[in-house]
Amino acid sequence: MEFNDDVALDTSQVQDMRGSGGGGVGSRVALGGGGLGIVGMILYFLLSQLGGVPQGSPISTRDVGEGQTVSNSDLSKECRTGKDANTNSDCALVAIINSIQGYWTDAFARSGSTYQAAPTNFFTGGVNTACGSATSDVGPFYCPGDQEIYIDLAFFKELQSRFGAQGGTFAEAYVIAHEYGHHVQTLLGTSDKVKRGTGPTSDAVRLELQADCYAGVWANHATSVPTSSGKPLIKSISQDDVNRALDVAARIGDDFIQENLGSGQVDESQFSHGSSKQRERWFTTGLNTGDPAQCDTFSARDLG
Ligand SMILES: [Zn+2]
Repeated sequence: MEFNDDVALDTSQVQDMRGSGGGGVGSRVALGGGGLGIVGMILYFLLSQLGGVPQGSPISTRDVGEGQTVSNSDLSKECRTGKDANTNSDCALVAIINSIQGYWTDAFARSGSTYQAAPTNFFTGGVNTACGSATSDVGPFYCPGDQEIYIDLAFFKELQSRFGAQGGTFAEAYVIAHEYGHHVQTLLGTSDKVKRGTGPTSDAVRLELQADCYAGVWANHATSVPTSSGKPLIKSISQDDVNRALDVAARIGDDFIQENLGSGQVDESQFSHGSSKQRERWFTTGLNTGDPAQCDTFSARDLG
């Protein structure tokens, strides 16, 4: 994917906590280390979607955990325009976040409502959120309690080294856009309606597949939706980019994870995010239609 050189970036949509020494949470080992990481990740994703993570004392939007500080000075110096996004991976993520939120701002306005922007927090090691504290093992996540996204960017390396993904900027964009899909679900009240439980047709899976579909919807509009400067930030998305996003979708499917990174056995009753095939299908549905209304996974009889 390529960014338009002369379009301004808005680094205020990112809160960079990476310089703050990893926050006040225990080490990865405290959660059981790498072996439990995936299980922890699945559980955390699931619980956080369903509001089941013990809610700590609510923290305000700009409040961060003990020992954590936000410093955007490096980002704001390095990431000024799309030209920087073409050469610097941090700036590319800023551009992607700007583009995603630009799309949803527009889409909400067109339907007569208002999109509320959500910041993405870059952290390393661990982080305290309104959904509790988390280590990097949980993977990127959205916390409905504070309506913010959290990501340790080491996850993108792990996608390649551990999940065997091809990687690439647009593959990362899919992951971020999926998390913003959860924010959209929170704003629309969808997340509140879901029932607990796992399984191939559970609400948890439908919610996740809808977030995949919303990611695809953004991707459909990414090269045309203007940001505040009036021009689109993203110049082009190639078929190779799309293939890389689909490759990631396939590698974070429940069946792939169970088979390759878990017990080796596929157990549909434990599905929380949908199979690889389903995740590819719903991202593709969003991408091909560009219409959020086509992402009604809750009414779909056949999830694919
Ligand atoms: Zn999700």
